[in-house]
Amino acid sequence: MGDILIKNGFIATMDSERKIYPKGSVYISEGRIESVGKTVDAPRSPEFIINAEHKVVMPGFVNTHAHLQQYFRGVYELIGDFYGVNLPLEGYRRPEDMEYLGLASCAELIYGGSTTTVVIYTYPDGFARAVEEAGNRVVLGADVEEVDLEKLRGGVYEYVHEKGEAAVRRAVNLYRDWHGKADGKITTIIAPKAADLVTVETYLKCKELAQEFNLKMSTHLSQSWREVTQVKKLYGKTPTEHLKDLGVLNNRLMGAHCTYVTERDLSLIREAGVSILHCRAVTNPLLRWLDQGIQVGFGTDDYHHDMLQLLREILWGAGVRAKSAGGAEEMLASNRRTARPTFYEVLELATRGGAEVLGLGGEIGSLEPGKKADIITVDLMNPFITPTRDPLTSIVLYGNSSDIDNVIVDGRILKLGGKPTSLDLEQALLKAQKRVDEIIDRFFDDYPEQRKSWEEKVFHRK
Ligand SMILES: [Zn+2]
Repeated sequence: MGDILIKNGFIATMDSERKIYPKGSVYISEGRIESVGKTVDAPRSPEFIINAEHKVVMPGFVNTHAHLQQYFRGVYELIGDFYGVNLPLEGYRRPEDMEYLGLASCAELIYGGSTTTVVIYTYPDGFARAVEEAGNRVVLGADVEEVDLEKLRGGVYEYVHEKGEAAVRRAVNLYRDWHGKADGKITTIIAPKAADLVTVETYLKCKELAQEFNLKMSTHLSQSWREVTQVKKLYGKTPTEHLKDLGVLNNRLMGAHCTYVTERDLSLIREAGVSILHCRAVTNPLLRWLDQGIQVGFGTDDYHHDMLQLLREILWGAGVRAKSAGGAEEMLASNRRTARPTFYEVLELATRGGAEVLGLGGEIGSLEPGKKADIITVDLMNPFITPTRDPLTSIVLYGNSSDIDNVIVDGRILKLGGKPTSLDLEQALLKAQKRVDEIIDRFFDDYPEQRKSWEEKVFHRK
C-alpha cells in the first residue's frame, strides 16, 4: 500500500497530552504515521487521499478480550446459562470451522473499528489464517482449559489431564506458527481459562511458557461465584490468592472481569501490577480500579464486538453503580470529581489504554509520528450526531459501527467508505451462517430438550 493522506479531519490523537486538532491531517507512509498535526503539508504526493471533512480521525479501538462466541447468537441469549449451554456448545466447535467462520469474524472486528483485538479461542490456528487474509491486527491466545464440559453442566468438576495437555500443545504451536506473522500483525499470548477450569500443574506450565516466550498471559479472574466457590473448596483461597501462590500474579497477567475480587485481592492485583480487562460486567468498580492506579483495558468478550456499544454499556454501568451507592459514596470513596468516567476517558481506555495493557503502547493506541498507522474515521454526517459542538462526546454517546467509514490497519485500508475491502462481506456472512446452522443443529440433535426449549422461545414466543 502506498502513502495515504487523511486531511481536514477532527483529529483526536488520544496521546498522553490529549492533543486535538479540530482541522488536521495525518500522513501515512510504509504502514506508519509520518506526521500528524494542524496543517500538515503533505511531504510527498500520496497515492491515496481521504478527505476527512466532517469526520473524526482517531486511533482504532484496542479490544483486549474477545472469544468469538457470536456463533451462538440467537440461541444462548434465549435458552442459555453459561455452564449449561455456552460451555457445552464450545465443545461442538471443530478446528476446521474457522475455514467457514474466520472471515466473518474478522469482518465484525474490522467493521466495528477494532484494529487490534485479543482473541482467545479453542482453535486459534484457523482464525489466524483468516486474519492473515483480512488484514486486521490480533493478539491470539489458545484457550487452555481441562474440565469435562458435559459433567460441568451438571455442576461437577472433573479434570481431564489429556485435554489440558492438548490445549497447552495448541498454545505452543500457536506461538511457533504465528507469533510475529502477517508483518507482525499477529502476536500471541498464553491464556489459561480460569482457576476453576485449569489445574495447578497446567497453570505452572502456562507460567513457564509465558516466561520462555516472553508473552503476556490472560486469564478469567473471579468471573463467577461458581469459580470462587470451587477454588476455595480446592485450595482454601480466593482465585487471586491462589494465582499469587502459584507465582502467576505478576505484570504479565491480565485478569478478565474481576467481579468477585475482595479488597485484599485488589491490593494483591495492584501490588503485582496485574491489569484488569473490563468487559460486560459493566457495574464492576471501574473508577476504584483506575483510582488505585490499576491499568484497565476494555473487551467486548462474547456476543458482539462493537466497541462503541461497549463504551455506552460501561458508562451506563458506572451510572447504575453510582446511583445504587447513592452517588456520593463513589465520589467520596474515590475522591473523584464525578461518579463515572468522562466520555473522553472511556474513549482513551478503549484505545491507548488497551494498547498499554497489552504492552503495545509504543506501537499503537494513539496517533503519533512513528506509530503504526491503525486509524479509523467516524462520519459525523449522521442526524443522530450532527449538529454537535463536541464530536467526541457525540460519537461516544450516539455513534455506531456503521458510522465508522474508514478503517486502516498497518497502513492498509480495510474499510473504505463503509465497505470492507479485504474480504467479500456477503460471502463471508453466508458461509458463516451455513456452518453455524450445522454446529447448532448438531448440538440440538444431542440435546433434544434444548431444541424444544429453543423452539418454544422462537416460534411460540414463550
Ligand atoms: Zn472471557
